[in-house]
Amino acid sequence: MLANLLIKPGQIELREVETPTAGAGEVVVKVRAALTCGTDLKTFLRGHPKFPLPTLFGHEFSGEIAQVGKGVKNFKEGDEVMSVPSGPCGQCYFCQRGQENICDGAMANYALGAYAEYIRVPAPVVSQNMFEKPANLSFQEAALLEPLACVLHGLSLPKLKEDDTVVVIGAGAIGLLHLLALHAFGVRKVIVLARRPYKLQLAKKLGAYKVVDVNEGLYRESILEATDGRGADLVIECTGQPPVWEASVNMVRRGGEVIFFGGCKQGSTVTFDTHRLHYDQITIRSPFHLTRAAVKQSYELLSDGRLMGKSLITDQFPLNQLHEVFSLLQRGDCIKYAVIP
Ligand SMILES: [Zn+2]
Ligand SMILES: [Zn+2]
Repeated sequence: MLANLLIKPGQIELREVETPTAGAGEVVVKVRAALTCGTDLKTFLRGHPKFPLPTLFGHEFSGEIAQVGKGVKNFKEGDEVMSVPSGPCGQCYFCQRGQENICDGAMANYALGAYAEYIRVPAPVVSQNMFEKPANLSFQEAALLEPLACVLHGLSLPKLKEDDTVVVIGAGAIGLLHLLALHAFGVRKVIVLARRPYKLQLAKKLGAYKVVDVNEGLYRESILEATDGRGADLVIECTGQPPVWEASVNMVRRGGEVIFFGGCKQGSTVTFDTHRLHYDQITIRSPFHLTRAAVKQSYELLSDGRLMGKSLITDQFPLNQLHEVFSLLQRGDCIKYAVIP
């Protein structure tokens, strides 16, 4: 089969490699759509600590089952499916304590290589985190299952109220998925902070209560103005920049919550005013990855067709143009690209 390999940071090559086969409990999926993700861009630029180079990459996908391994009962050849790349082991210390999102075994059971004609999906994924794709959902939208599940895992932690004011910092795929998910939960007062005109406009088009151009500086003032001087009930940081982590704590109201969704570079540090955290009782959370409950909820939200996920897919390209796709991603006037084998 043809597969894109990341040879070294900045270099992608489409190569003929061995087509994967399905072991016990596994399936092989013929990829019909793969989506780019911020993690892929980071991997493209600097490699990935868990995936030695050269490596297959791409992890957001949907497709058609081409082969089922021994013992797979819930799927058959030809089924159209959507899936996340990982599934919990159920046995490690963390899984036993309900923290399957940080499962020790998740990386060993990871479906990697969606920018290819076929992808092998490990058994814990097939048995727990793969679903039949509804006919009314396009393959491209179905491939949003994973990023949306991560967002929903984060949003499962605070107690949301419909009249909350939420600030989302960053209007890339993750920021905008937060906006769409909050709307789906009935939370309409979502203020989006961003820098690029393309992203500010899209956030507005998707119904953000207010969009604030951070280039203009006075974002804290705009948030206070929208909240009778209190600050937001919830602030969600989606940029992964240490200075933005620090600033987000000053946008929330007393007793409010901050979610650090965007992971920063390894070794980065941040500083907070302890008085602000303690005497204003600020809750800080830093959710990582996803749970089965979040995947199921993501599947339900996508299936019922209200999410408008399509609007996050800027354009589509064939498999042999992945290099161009990554140049476009670096320029930034886009959200996600679909890669179609
Ligand atoms: Zn992703
Ligand atoms: Zn585990």
